[in-house]
Amino acid sequence: MSQEVKFNLPASEIPKEWYNLAPDFPVPMEPPLHPGTREPASADDMRAIFPDNLIEQEVTQERYVEIPEPVREIYALWRPTPLLRAVRLEKALNTPAHIYYKYEGVSPAGSHKPNSAVPQAFYNKEAGIKRLATETGAGQWGSSLAMACQLFGIECVVYMVRVSFEQKPYRKLMMHTWGATVHPSPSLATDFGRKILAEDPDCVGSLGIAISEAIEDTIKTPDTKYALGSVLNHVCLHQSVIGQETIKQMEMAGEGPDIVIGCAGGGSNFAGMAFPFIGRNLREGKSVKLLAVEPESCPTLTKGEMRYDFGDTAETTPLLKMYTLGHDFMPPSIHSGGLRYHGMSPMVSHAKELGLIDAKSYPQSQIFEAAVLFARTEGLVPAPEPAHAIRAVIDEAEKARESGEKKVILFNLCGHGMLDLAAYETYLSGNMEDPRA
Ligand SMILES: *Cc1c(COP(=O)(O)O)cnc(C)c1O
Repeated sequence: MSQEVKFNLPASEIPKEWYNLAPDFPVPMEPPLHPGTREPASADDMRAIFPDNLIEQEVTQERYVEIPEPVREIYALWRPTPLLRAVRLEKALNTPAHIYYKYEGVSPAGSHKPNSAVPQAFYNKEAGIKRLATETGAGQWGSSLAMACQLFGIECVVYMVRVSFEQKPYRKLMMHTWGATVHPSPSLATDFGRKILAEDPDCVGSLGIAISEAIEDTIKTPDTKYALGSVLNHVCLHQSVIGQETIKQMEMAGEGPDIVIGCAGGGSNFAGMAFPFIGRNLREGKSVKLLAVEPESCPTLTKGEMRYDFGDTAETTPLLKMYTLGHDFMPPSIHSGGLRYHGMSPMVSHAKELGLIDAKSYPQSQIFEAAVLFARTEGLVPAPEPAHAIRAVIDEAEKARESGEKKVILFNLCGHGMLDLAAYETYLSGNMEDPRA
């Protein structure tokens, strides 16, 4: 073969530790606050919804956290994930740039989400918890947690944003297959859901509302804790397996990235890829650029404000210092359900505020144009979320063509689009609209 395109690591190279960016930040993050007192939230404030072992990971300043062996054994079902070079996309763009992508769609749920679902189910099981409540947008997190709970013998209940519950039946069916209970949110199962439905029976839902419902369920049901699929520090920690593996695979490929790109909804897949690179920038004086890409209709990092805000609509979470569009922001119902969140991971937000990363946004028609070009050159049909990263990759590759630069571009292809084909149909039939925030 003239050109190597796939860089695989053996199972022995599944990371043994997660990497935590927190101790490497040049300025420490500001803590979550109790909404009543505006004092730093205590472990007790978090104990109502999370087990102690995960609270410890949420606040740890250790640079490396050991991955428990039962978690690595499940990771081994699909990890290490492949790194590929997109030579046919490079050719189509006639660019001197080299384009690499880390493919997280090989997990059983089809995205990066099981990287955190598995340890979250494991630690809850260790803590004696019998049932986990959660929310899901397009269904990627709900299906990942349903699978992980099933593997550890825990019950799982999922509040799924209504617009996805109705438009995306397949992920709901995956959750049923893995034994979870799924409610459309807003639902009749909680006080908050009933209140919203009384005001607006046609409410399509949002992640903020679904989070409120899952938290209410947690507080009211014995032996139940809450699990969040993005945003929080421990989720970014778990996702660091992505970037750690990629650093080794880029070494196999014999080059290093000039720019690393990922889509950002709550920030976890971006963090998972970017944070190990940011750590090397800070500790080893490297200067890899990092770029987070988001929808123009939910532009948290590019148009939001960095301030304390609630993580949910009902104002039940601690206040998090993050980029936010406001906790009552109702994002328009775009096809990238995973990117419809009003806030952003406090760690990713802090990195942005310190100038350690850049951010950019695109309208969804430009996203699907990029997704289709990728599918037609590389074969793989990406989920609409990582297609945001692909759009930015193509722009970078075109810039390189103009300047003649031999740039190396790396991105995280965090999920496949085989359950998002209805969105492709809308695009291909010329009916895709670009709602604005
Ligand atoms: C959930 C999800 C996202 C958005 O969440 P992040 O925490 O920002 O990663 C993006 N892409 C895919 C495929 C997802 O499942």
